[in-house]
Amino acid sequence: MTNIQKKHIQSDSTPSPLERAGERLSPSERVGEGLSRRNFIRTTGLTALAGLAGAETIFAAVKKKSSKTSGKGLILRFIPYELQLRHTFTLANSSRKTTPDVLISLEFEGVTGYGEASMPPYLGESIESATKFLGSLNLSQFNDTFQMDDILKYVDSVMPGNCAAKASVDIALHDLVGKLMGQPWYKIWGFDPADTPNTSFTIGIDTPEVVRQKVAEATPYKILKVKLGQKTDREMIETIRSVTSVPLCVDVNQGWTDKQMALDMIHWLKEKGVVFVEQPMPKTSVDEMAWLTEHSPLPTIGDESVQRLPDVIKASGIYNGINIKLMKCTGMREAHQMLTLARSLDMKVMIGCMTETSCAVSAAAQLSSKCDWADLDGNLLISNDPYQGVQVVKGKVTLIDQPGMGLSALDPKWKI
Ligand code: MG
Repeated sequence: MTNIQKKHIQSDSTPSPLERAGERLSPSERVGEGLSRRNFIRTTGLTALAGLAGAETIFAAVKKKSSKTSGKGLILRFIPYELQLRHTFTLANSSRKTTPDVLISLEFEGVTGYGEASMPPYLGESIESATKFLGSLNLSQFNDTFQMDDILKYVDSVMPGNCAAKASVDIALHDLVGKLMGQPWYKIWGFDPADTPNTSFTIGIDTPEVVRQKVAEATPYKILKVKLGQKTDREMIETIRSVTSVPLCVDVNQGWTDKQMALDMIHWLKEKGVVFVEQPMPKTSVDEMAWLTEHSPLPTIGDESVQRLPDVIKASGIYNGINIKLMKCTGMREAHQMLTLARSLDMKVMIGCMTETSCAVSAAAQLSSKCDWADLDGNLLISNDPYQGVQVVKGKVTLIDQPGMGLSALDPKWKI
């Protein structure tokens, strides 16, 4: 018997708060249990409990309820998890204090991989859409976890969209296969961990006082990412420059609509020590954006304009580079393809993230050695990260030489 099997037997004998709450679910609330036999806790009341418990406790509870599914094939479990943000996060067009998330696990013959779907509301996915999508999957049909291409093609084919939900399965499968191979993914891909870039730390739009406080918290970082796209843009930059001289990059989140104004701002930003400009104009302003890139003294990076693999070719000639995010592109497999394609088109590459736990950030970090820039601070912007994974040491992404994503749980009693 493996240590993992022993641990789950111990977990089964001591119901967690979440497990006891789960006893109160009616059959109709157990979505997906009928046809797929995969169990799922979906009530919003349990979301708060999920925020208090560790990931291992959560999945131990779900495992007990789905014990009838043990046998051959992949076993999928998932549960809502609300990410609590350390600061109110303000972008050009939105503001929020939490991010909806779904934690998932994939088990195969006693080994478990972990994944997640982080869903900032402006991307169009939700707890409801993600759990509906995950509940529709039949992964127990797959008995060979190494057939990743077939498994992920199936996942992508079930419904259109649902990119974050698809990414959660992709990340969990990579974590699982990495554990089965006994290697982290940066090694499987042949990347040198010494080549990882510094990661930027994001400063959201806020009052000068709060901006100065955020910059003070960001002292270890060698580059700061500043959110722009409002009337206070110059004030934001001047405030930051009054307290630090570190290089800056800016993310306008489609906030500038006049190309000449955008060009004037970019010239001014270059004088202020900015190194690149992300998504300055709306993704629909293709001709204006091509003109801006042609005249810009700084590299332009497409983010909202570039979601999946075919978008990389469309972005060539419009932007100097792309921002790859796992939640946009359905996960690590397609992200790796986008990185390779962008390089073949002589484009810059940034690896980014949403506000998310160390699970998805550690997954994205596996690719970072081959990227020009990393924006992998999503786990540092939340206060209830259930995992520990990739670290930022002196501002640099620091990979962990452990199988899969190299994840562990924050509390030893939740050891993965
Ligand atoms: Mg962006």
